[in-house]
Amino acid sequence: FFITFEGIEGAGKSTQSKMLYEYLIKNGKNAVLTREPGGTDLGKKIREILLNPSKEIFPPVAELMLYEADRNIHVHNIIKPYLNRGFYVISDRFTDSTLAYQGYARGIDIELVERLNDIASEGIKPDITFIIDIPVEEGMKRIHRYREKDRIEQEGVDFHKRLREGFLRIAQKERERVVLLDGRKDKEIIFNEILEILRKRDII
Ligand code: C5P
Repeated sequence: FFITFEGIEGAGKSTQSKMLYEYLIKNGKNAVLTREPGGTDLGKKIREILLNPSKEIFPPVAELMLYEADRNIHVHNIIKPYLNRGFYVISDRFTDSTLAYQGYARGIDIELVERLNDIASEGIKPDITFIIDIPVEEGMKRIHRYREKDRIEQEGVDFHKRLREGFLRIAQKERERVVLLDGRKDKEIIFNEILEILRKRDII
């Protein structure tokens, strides 16, 4: 099964992905925990370009294409091979992040982003996606507490509000695949909700 976690900065995606991965391993399952951007060696180089500020112009379409390149490399090296071997593949971000960031927040045509997402993921779709939703101010507060801001985190509040709205719209549009969770709750409570949903859907 392919399980993805999505949401704005500071929502708790990485925490929940890790908790799920550790839970699966503890229960004797084959599982791999991965992320975008930067789930592969090549992808780590792309991640560096994406997250480090530069004095040069970095046009939105170039940014979009780097995310898609990272994804296509990720699909070939990690996601497909492990799914074929029957592993649970848990990814901290996937196609919905590109739709929300480069599409809804940055303003690139949604259909274009969807099309490039399809090309880069080569037909691989998550079996289930958890979008963890928190108010923008709460997310900002959380990340400022524990690390320096990267290029995107320095964007203004409006960018992050469009981003959150984008994720909410994706959750509305894709009710079958996407489960929306309230990221303001305690992490243990959220994790139990995740387990319950996965059990109900016969994924675990
Ligand atoms: O979640 P993670 O810290 O790995 O994300 C790295 C950075 O990339 C974040 O600042 C996030 O905002 C940004 N990002 C983006 N567009 C995407 C995916 C992530 O701007 N499609």
